[in-house]
Amino acid sequence: MAALVQTRGVSKSFGGLFAVKDVDLAIEDREIHCLIGPNGAGKSTLFKLIVGTYAPSAGSILFAGADVTKMPAFARVARGMSIKMQAPSVFRALSVRQNLHIALQYHVEAHRIPAEEERLLSLLGLEVDASRPAGELAHGQQQWLEIGMALALRPRLLLLDEPTAGLSPDETFRTGELIQRLNADGATVLVVEHDMAFVRQIATSVTVLHLGQVFARGTIEDIISNRGVEEIYLGSAHDA
Ligand code: ADP
Ligand code: MG
Repeated sequence: MAALVQTRGVSKSFGGLFAVKDVDLAIEDREIHCLIGPNGAGKSTLFKLIVGTYAPSAGSILFAGADVTKMPAFARVARGMSIKMQAPSVFRALSVRQNLHIALQYHVEAHRIPAEEERLLSLLGLEVDASRPAGELAHGQQQWLEIGMALALRPRLLLLDEPTAGLSPDETFRTGELIQRLNADGATVLVVEHDMAFVRQIATSVTVLHLGQVFARGTIEDIISNRGVEEIYLGSAHDA
């Protein structure tokens, strides 16, 4: 069966320097695919190529059987991609429920919104916080609320760029559980992440980027036992 997402020879250069070079990536339907690699490896650039923030300098991108290479981001969203970017962007003065309502009103018929709000509140574990202003939530809860807003359109593919940035270990673990619940519910998930414990918790497959290219791919066990991967991480730690 064809993968849900396929990039074929995808490259992106900025002023002649390649941030992503000749990448073939396949994300299978229903998997949790983690994209890892040291700082500057090209993870966020590849993420933006898949969602349509950037157009590739070369190569093509397929999603659910269609060539979306030249499609703007909104058209990819309409086909079932949903994105949570790195910076949180909830409406802080509005309640948790109002935030979900705003996200839902674009995708769900009015009479079904209350039921969908309840479904999302329970999925996110935010039932008791439904009436609180979003700005009062803990940082982790704000991240979950934002994931909930990205779920409003019941995406086939959920894309998360560093969903655990700034979270405590406990919040990180619970974010992993949330991602696994969404995946069990039918969503394919692509996660850009550098926290290896988190990747170990959730990944069904892993792609390692290094200097804009695919350095390794496989199961989490394959990646953990790959000495080369350890070295590129150590190398970047020395550089930092
Ligand atoms: P990662 O997310 O893995 O840390 P990025 O994709 O953000 O890496 O960056 C990869 C490389 O591309 C880095 O060298 C970065 O400086 C460069 N880069 C990323 N975005 C831009 C941009 N908009 N303009 C110029 N260079 C960029
Ligand atoms: Mg990044």
